Amino acid sequence: MEAIPTKTDIRKLTLPELEQFITGMAEPKFRAKQIWEWLWKKGAHTFEEMSNLSKELRQNLDTHFAIHAIREDRVQRSEDGTIKSRFQLHDGHLIESVLIPVPEEKRFTVCVSSQAGCSLSCKFCATGRMKRVRNLDAAEIFDQVLLVNRQSLDTFGHPLSNIVFMGMGEPLLAYSTVMESIGHITAADGLGMSPKRITVSTAGIAKMIRKLADDNVKFNLALSLHAATDAKRDEIMPINEQNNLTTLMDAIEYFYRKTRNRISYEYIAFQGFNDSPEDAAHLAALCRRFPVTVNIIEYNPIEGADFRKSSEDTIDAFARYLREREVMVTVRRSRGKDIDAACGQLANRE
Ligand code: SF4
Repeated sequence: MEAIPTKTDIRKLTLPELEQFITGMAEPKFRAKQIWEWLWKKGAHTFEEMSNLSKELRQNLDTHFAIHAIREDRVQRSEDGTIKSRFQLHDGHLIESVLIPVPEEKRFTVCVSSQAGCSLSCKFCATGRMKRVRNLDAAEIFDQVLLVNRQSLDTFGHPLSNIVFMGMGEPLLAYSTVMESIGHITAADGLGMSPKRITVSTAGIAKMIRKLADDNVKFNLALSLHAATDAKRDEIMPINEQNNLTTLMDAIEYFYRKTRNRISYEYIAFQGFNDSPEDAAHLAALCRRFPVTVNIIEYNPIEGADFRKSSEDTIDAFARYLREREVMVTVRRSRGKDIDAACGQLANRE
């Protein structure tokens, strides 16, 4: 049986490729720019809505191309205001994004996914229990920002202020599409958001952190550290075996020296595992080489994992220890726990 030809996703084209197609249709070249802005600035998901193009051109585009938009599949609202959205990709896979509002600080952050599933198997993470299915396309990452921005405007009357790549997947293993999506999110003929408001979070892939530096990116970097010695980190994050702390710190220092962008360590506090004064001392030692903020995060237990969350008193003492050693620390109480939207809980659960 002959395979049914599928149409190319128009958002996979570069602007020069789109221009080539348009001029090949005997249309003026500027039409390509108009289409480009419909796709990346106005977030059009149909050709029909491209109202400044002739009907004939819209039909022609529809004959040749598809727009593989993500589709809202389910929305869950937490009692603390956090909103988790599950989106279906054009091939049926599901991913999740989370909107975390802090209206009193005018902070509206979206946490986006970069892969369907994840290959890294961090022990405390629900996503890590899923297999990696595939990397998301740049447009699928872009769509999460676009749609959650609309959700933020509709619900809170405020656009997104921050974007964090901390949802499903390891962004640096989807390097090219993550970079491309950030290009569209920050471009003047895209969503026009500032790269300073974007943070890419990695479980720690030294080679790719160096590549970010060489590519001279303008966004912030977060390392999911979670343990401050190799012995402990090996236990909870298998990626540490090929990317030990010495290699990682060298790569992050390289990133800092080249870009001067903001760096943070994410540190989930697990009771009796990484929350002792000795652990705090190891962590403080990792904060001396370059300016870094430590974000201590309350753990959200997931089914089948042996970890428990640290008590508030332990977290406070841990934070105090670091502050006394002039480490910049924030403590994040978890958000959206009641809807499995908190850190490490994204797993497309019913
Ligand atoms: S914490 Fe991040 S990198 Fe680790 S398994 Fe979960 S999604 Fe993957």
